[in-house]
Amino acid sequence: MDDPLGWLDTTAEARRAAGLRRVLSPRDVVEPLVDLASNDYLGLARDPRVVEGAVAATRTWGAGSTGSRLVTGSTRLHADLEESLADLVGAPAALVFSSGYTANLGAVTALSGRGAVVVSDVAAHASLVDAARLSRARVAVTRCSRPADVDAVLADAGEGRRLVVTDGVDSVDGGLAPLTELHAVCRARGAILLVDDAHGLGVRGPGGAGLVAEAGLAGEPDVVTTVTLSKSLGSQGGAVLGSPTVIAHLVDAARSFIFDTGLAPACVGAALAALEVLRLEPDRVGALHRAAAAVAASARAAAPGLGVADPTAAMVPVVLGEPDLAVAARDACAAAGLRAGCFRPPSVPEGTSRLRLTARADLTADDLALVDRVLHDVLGPIVGGSRSSGAVPG
Ligand code: PMP
Repeated sequence: MDDPLGWLDTTAEARRAAGLRRVLSPRDVVEPLVDLASNDYLGLARDPRVVEGAVAATRTWGAGSTGSRLVTGSTRLHADLEESLADLVGAPAALVFSSGYTANLGAVTALSGRGAVVVSDVAAHASLVDAARLSRARVAVTRCSRPADVDAVLADAGEGRRLVVTDGVDSVDGGLAPLTELHAVCRARGAILLVDDAHGLGVRGPGGAGLVAEAGLAGEPDVVTTVTLSKSLGSQGGAVLGSPTVIAHLVDAARSFIFDTGLAPACVGAALAALEVLRLEPDRVGALHRAAAAVAASARAAAPGLGVADPTAAMVPVVLGEPDLAVAARDACAAAGLRAGCFRPPSVPEGTSRLRLTARADLTADDLALVDRVLHDVLGPIVGGSRSSGAVPG
């Protein structure tokens, strides 16, 4: 009899050989490292006001939400959060989900379905990809950075519902989707445009309202925005923003809303407090962009040959090539006091493994000086010498 689990060892070995094994490394409560790996773009996750928002909500409403949003899992705080998010983004209505992942699952499946066409960007986040698969719609993968390609797919789409899905800000390289042009194509072809603004909320647009707001599209009835509360807002959870008709439909039909326990009060309270901090301190968005520019300048000076681009959002990608090299660079950064993100296939295409440095609004001058020093020490030898030999100090 074959061992039913034997294939797990074989798969793990193949991943190890390709440098693609993933390891969980729990953080200490307070890490001595300068953090350029998290998604805490506005530095709000540990802001005392945001932490207090979580604590106060827990004291009032309990540790868990106790049920589905449709049964006992909706508190007054959830409604307040939906109103505040809609206010910031400039959308007519919002619906809070337990994560950005479930928000995408719910929105895409409920707005498409059997007989529909979902046009998905080639680089769409995994949650949009999974949502499209789950929807039972026909899925067409194309480049949303080229609206004419989307137009061509929609022209051939036949009858039925049409939904175009894309990240607003690319989660890996910060590329911006051409939303105005995409929306024009969608409108002309009778498609809904769904934009995942996970990396645009708090980062792009007026007061951090997001990329959809920056494009002036947040109030359009045929535009749906999804967000996560886990990045710039320093909490956890997700939301869909759109017209009242769309939101009412999701309450009726989005399975990841109906059959999931409501977001925990602590997360709701923290997100509400974070939105209030952002309202009082809108320059956090500017501080984030200044920090991202400084990190990019350091990476460019350390390794001019790597073609580090000007950042459009919080992330600064430094493409190194093979997975082993990116892992070695990440480990060398950590040994020198800098936590850097490391992206390998399947998160990025083969041959483009990289460091992903994410700036934060609360990086100090000392932090940025350390970043400059470490990148110089780690990246310098890579570009100076063998890019493929893994010759990284540390
Ligand atoms: N969309 C994008 C573009 C993301 O980067 C993420 C988080 N990695 C998500 C959705 C999922 O959000 P959450 O972590 O809140 O589930």
